[in-house]
Amino acid sequence: MDAQPNGQPDRTRRRTVTVNVGGVPIGGDHPIVIQSMTNTDTADVDATVRQIQELADAGSEIVRITVNNEDAARAVPHIVERLRDAGYTTPIVGDFHYNGHILLPRFPAMARSLDKYRINPGNVGTKYRDDNFRIIIEEAVRHGKPVRIGVNWGSLDQALLTKLMDENARRPDPLDARAVTREAMVQSALLSARYAEDCGLPHDRIIISAKVSAVPDLIAVYRRLAAQCDYPLHLGLTEAGMGMKGIVASTAGLAILLQEGIGDTIRVSLTPRPGGDRTEEVRVCQQILQSLELRAFAPQVTACPGCGRTASTYFQELAEDVQRYIEKRMPAWRRQYPGVENLRVAVMGCVVNGPGESKHAHIGISLPGKFEEPKAPVYVDGRLFATLRGDNIAAEFTRLLEDYVASRFAAPAAVPADGR
Ligand code: SF4
Repeated sequence: MDAQPNGQPDRTRRRTVTVNVGGVPIGGDHPIVIQSMTNTDTADVDATVRQIQELADAGSEIVRITVNNEDAARAVPHIVERLRDAGYTTPIVGDFHYNGHILLPRFPAMARSLDKYRINPGNVGTKYRDDNFRIIIEEAVRHGKPVRIGVNWGSLDQALLTKLMDENARRPDPLDARAVTREAMVQSALLSARYAEDCGLPHDRIIISAKVSAVPDLIAVYRRLAAQCDYPLHLGLTEAGMGMKGIVASTAGLAILLQEGIGDTIRVSLTPRPGGDRTEEVRVCQQILQSLELRAFAPQVTACPGCGRTASTYFQELAEDVQRYIEKRMPAWRRQYPGVENLRVAVMGCVVNGPGESKHAHIGISLPGKFEEPKAPVYVDGRLFATLRGDNIAAEFTRLLEDYVASRFAAPAAVPADGR
């Protein structure tokens, strides 16, 4: 990655207004916020509270729940109350489709308890579209809530799309349908935002998203949105998919936009396996942001892939042991050693790249490869610090790691009140 002379990544964040979502600022110079969404039945208060807590514990800073019917609307205040009583301050967002204009006025306790409303302009009805949209915005104004205008490729405003398709057909050089659909996404989001402001919603209470399922469309649509407004943008592929495909596709799209300074909040919409762990999407978001050096959440272990020079699987086992050790120690480290999430550790399989990579880490070890002298140099802050030998390399390395963390990330001693 290109770097500035001060070593910081060469990247300019797009300028936006800041939107306050239940105490979490989004946009401006604020950290890029990680969001997730429950997949429980919102009417099931116990299950929904449990999953929100799991997502928040994993690092989700905002959680969205669907509010799809009257039972869900009735459950929302109880869900929020239970979370706050348990000490969770995570803002809760209500996701509305088709009937938000009915539910929000009818269930004022629900409308009050949510921290943001998400509206899909393509799903507010057709005949009374503007009236329904206005009613939701008026509820947001009444309760002082921000709104995400979330356009979606799969439920795009059909009237707008048809109008743009017709206009395109009359052009001497018509664009292809995909380009027109991208333009319809952008226009739907921006026209809806303007209408929301006309209905009285302040400019700094609007966040925009325009989710699509293909990476090239995502990049094209968000670049255009970014150039045409200063609303904070929520990034994510819709229906990213399962497992590796969903992770790779989301990372490919989000990384390009984030590297261009576009994006103020993100979600990775993974499809979990039946009974699978919903919190995986939160960890993927964290890893994307940390890999781009936008935020730090956990120490990073750099390990080489191994090759024919690797003497055994020992270095893979050591890399795994070190990773596990860090995960086990992190809850305590986090309390004792501020900034420890920035720690970089290298575990390398031989001396070809080992010492070099170790020098770039805070602390790194290179194990002996095939036919190499049986010793493992350890580098600390770029300098050879120790050379380990024998059967106890793993234990000795974790001891050195522990000592390093204690000395490097120790909290500064409190200054006495008289300054001495
Ligand atoms: S550091 Fe050594 S063992 Fe690891 S991939 Fe490179 S050459 Fe192979």
